[in-house]
Amino acid sequence: SAVLDAGFFRRWMTAAAAAVDREADRLTDLDSAIGDADHGANMRRGFAAVAAALEAEPQPTPGAVLVFAGRRLISTVGGASGPLYGTLLRRTGKALGDAAEVTPEALAEALGAGVAAVAQLGGATAGDKTMLDALGPGVDALGRGGGFAGAARAAAEGAAATVPMLARKGRASYLGERSIGHQDPGATSAALLFEALVEAAA
Ligand code: ADP
Ligand code: MG
Ligand code: MG
Repeated sequence: SAVLDAGFFRRWMTAAAAAVDREADRLTDLDSAIGDADHGANMRRGFAAVAAALEAEPQPTPGAVLVFAGRRLISTVGGASGPLYGTLLRRTGKALGDAAEVTPEALAEALGAGVAAVAQLGGATAGDKTMLDALGPGVDALGRGGGFAGAARAAAEGAAATVPMLARKGRASYLGERSIGHQDPGATSAALLFEALVEAAA
């Protein structure tokens, strides 16, 4: 199958920045229902900083691109999503090592390590109505050979499946039963990251 180089990973981050910019109002609307109405602004600020930093300092390998991007997210996003997505990208990048090119299979495995690190940092598990409910299905689909399109579909389905869930982590958990009936903002942005993978590969 196709190999993915540093250019692919830079395109992924640029496409992610464009996607969260395009969808910022929707992410904020979702966060206004069960959070504090800043998820669109948080994601937009974080990924715009990532894209600008990668433009200035391109980074030579897939792993370096993701570690660098993760650090930028952590330093620019104050909300819960900054450290969580920052950890996802840093840990995934670390797992890719210093290879100049990686396969989609290697990316799926590395993302699995990244998702595990997010679960450890946030203490959440599948079904808690968080970004993990889109990240998990997306990474699993990629690992099963579903391709980027299959992963994006699985992540979007995972995000939609958060609607009837009761939030057990993050701000939405303060609402208890009133969190039911709303799609989780972080699961929604996680699905956008998989859509951005499809765009980067096109
Ligand atoms: P904040 O809640 O600090 O305002 P954001 O609005 O940017 O941060 O992000 C909220 C999203 O972060 C939630 O929708 C959820 O998906 C995710 N999230 C919050 N807490 C956790 C956690 N402990 N584990 C995993 N994801 C979490
Ligand atoms: Mg918020
Ligand atoms: Mg906030």
